[in-house]
Amino acid sequence: MSQFKSLARIYRPQTFSDLVGQEAVVRTLSQGFSAGSLTQAYLFSGERGVGKTTVARILAKAINCTAGPTATPCLSCSSCIEIAEGRSPDVLEMDGASHTSVEDVRTIREGLRYSPLGGKSRIIIIDEVHMLSTSAFNALLKTLEEPPPHVVFILATTEAHKIPDTVLSRCQHYRFRLLTIPEISGRIGEIAEKEGLPLDPGVITLVARSAEGSMRDALSLLDQILRIGGTEVTAGWVAELLGVTDQALEEALLSSLLSGDLPSTLRTARTVLEAGIDPRAQVRTLARLFRDILHSLLEDVPLDSPRYGWTREGSARIASLPTPNLFFLEQALSVLVRGEDDLRRSPQPDITFELLLARICHLKAIIPLPDLLTRLLTETGNTAGAHPSSSPLVPRPLRSSRPPVASSLPPSPEVISPRRDPLPDLHPPSRTGPLDLRIASDWGKALSRLSSEMRSLLESARVARFEQGTLLLDTGNSFFNNRIASNREALGRALSEAVRSPEPLRVETPGSGPPGGGSAEKTTPPPPLVSEAAAIFGSEIIGVRSPNTPLESHQGEKS
Ligand SMILES: [Zn+2]
Repeated sequence: MSQFKSLARIYRPQTFSDLVGQEAVVRTLSQGFSAGSLTQAYLFSGERGVGKTTVARILAKAINCTAGPTATPCLSCSSCIEIAEGRSPDVLEMDGASHTSVEDVRTIREGLRYSPLGGKSRIIIIDEVHMLSTSAFNALLKTLEEPPPHVVFILATTEAHKIPDTVLSRCQHYRFRLLTIPEISGRIGEIAEKEGLPLDPGVITLVARSAEGSMRDALSLLDQILRIGGTEVTAGWVAELLGVTDQALEEALLSSLLSGDLPSTLRTARTVLEAGIDPRAQVRTLARLFRDILHSLLEDVPLDSPRYGWTREGSARIASLPTPNLFFLEQALSVLVRGEDDLRRSPQPDITFELLLARICHLKAIIPLPDLLTRLLTETGNTAGAHPSSSPLVPRPLRSSRPPVASSLPPSPEVISPRRDPLPDLHPPSRTGPLDLRIASDWGKALSRLSSEMRSLLESARVARFEQGTLLLDTGNSFFNNRIASNREALGRALSEAVRSPEPLRVETPGSGPPGGGSAEKTTPPPPLVSEAAAIFGSEIIGVRSPNTPLESHQGEKS
């Protein structure tokens, strides 16, 4: 390999039709040509490496081609060739990051007074335009307000929000999106093939994923791989080169998390760290995988479809696990996204990494409140008139480790495909049937009648008990419990109305019972039903109260 020329340069798209992705941008730009309505100022915004500068150069050719202006420049006229070789006197490329001063903009303005030398227009491409100083922007604005007829500006930025409104309003704004894994892997596969070094699909997927939507990054990774690896490229080797987990390790970690298996998760996490993998990169990968699973469930598209780019084995392995519920996936995703930020600032990223994985395992045990109610009622035998919940949020039964009992328990909703059937227990509200089941099914409706503060409080609350018109809610935090308690009338009313309860429902929190409640000193063992409920929820019994009697403390605790 005598002289290295980057793959990104060798395979830079020369026409709009060569371009991968950005169809919306290309369509609108091309329409401008066919309608003969070209603007004098374009703004291209989007992440790095998604094609902004490439499109700017194609656009320059399209404008100045001797056969043009045309959306399909000829590529053979002198203008097209000069622009492709970066030596057109009429196209000025400037980097906003290194030419930020007002003098730089003034120099451009001076140059614009003269007519184009060869082409039809003088085209000024300013990359990273958000880096210009305020005074430079003001100078630029003067030109943008009244540009000479032969001048076209193409401004590109990764941070559109930093562009002053005065400049934005003068430009036609085109937003470039991140490229998808299939788009990147398709292009990489094609280039590797052309280079005579066809790659294993596993390698291509690894590269496409690591590029995180940037074609430029993908091509520079491919450069390294082809240069160093030659024909001996394996997925394991590439994973090591990229500092990411190989597929087996990645799947092991994902499986442990999805199963809520803390020991296995921590073991795998240690292997990941020992392999020298950057925890942040690992968290980003996990976030992408969780997101893939969430979308796959919601849209009923298998993980090994091109959209997600999973291998067939990886997809099959996940499908063989109990289907994670959507609540868990959303929460886990949120932990991962926030966790990446925590890791950035953490003085001990290894520990932070393990902690956030542990948090995801614990999430597995948290069940959305409406489902908790349904679970309680069905498991305690109150199934008269009950129909199995078909909410996609319903997780697997908590007692799956116990031997199965022949019972009337609802069938497990653990299916890999999302439930497509209507949700009969969510709407319309059941007018008949046990009141407690109606509470479970109409909980969301009751919440919608409350303030957003109450809603968010109740989302973190667990049901300690529901019996004879009284719902005991516990957030595990006395401050939040008191906030709920101070709104309990409103909550009781909303709940009663939502479920059409013939009698008003009462809401209580630990320690919020009628006067004198929560201070009983005698401690009697809780009734079996309550112990059972606590076991199902994995919660502590704070107190037991029969209707119309004070709360009876079991631990002498007051909150
Ligand atoms: Zn041409």
